[in-house]
Amino acid sequence: MEPLDILVVAPHPDDAEISVGGTIALSLSQNLRVGVLELTDGEPTPHGTPELRREETSQATEILNLTWRRNLGLPNRSLQPTLESRRKLAEVFRSTRPRIILAPYWQDAHPDHVAASSLCDDARFWAKLSRSDLAGEPFWPPSLLHYFSIHLRIHPPASVVVDISAHIETKMGAVAAYRSQLIEGRSTEHPTVLDDIRDRARYWGWSIGKSYGEPLLNREQIGIGSLDSLLN
Ligand SMILES: [Zn+2]
Repeated sequence: MEPLDILVVAPHPDDAEISVGGTIALSLSQNLRVGVLELTDGEPTPHGTPELRREETSQATEILNLTWRRNLGLPNRSLQPTLESRRKLAEVFRSTRPRIILAPYWQDAHPDHVAASSLCDDARFWAKLSRSDLAGEPFWPPSLLHYFSIHLRIHPPASVVVDISAHIETKMGAVAAYRSQLIEGRSTEHPTVLDDIRDRARYWGWSIGKSYGEPLLNREQIGIGSLDSLLN
């Protein structure tokens, strides 16, 4: 297959849309090749079933216009950074060869998110190994940035904020597809879960003088070829 430019690794269906739905829509509009890999099916949850979650995911995929989306089939709620999981993820990195990986932030109340973050780091390293029995050719994903889908009320700093002003409605449409998670059984009074997601995007947009934004954090330095990329 043709390599991906960006691969979003999400612990559960809905994490990619909540955190970087606007960045996905923006990148696709710029003809970048974007993929989303869920690690688990996200079930069980109070209002979901595996079939319903698959339907919601395919609806969100259509709204975003995504053409590459897979599920790695790892265990929900008990996700662990095991060697077997690392192997599976490293093999996806080798076959998709993304220039940028978007991974969950490493601090989180949800253990699956912590495990997923660690797995991304570990699999990124393994993906480059030669003389291994991993499927595919060695590949080192050059860039790994973290997105915030955190179940903690903390405010990590961002390295960059992506201007998603032109794509906020696409993001919110895709987020709303996950009815069983974000709408059913939830309070309908302001602020709803959807209000929270939109307002956070507004807050990060404010931080860069735009309408809506999504933050990304890179532990490594971000190199730029020209100061021209800051002139927007
Ligand atoms: Zn999640």
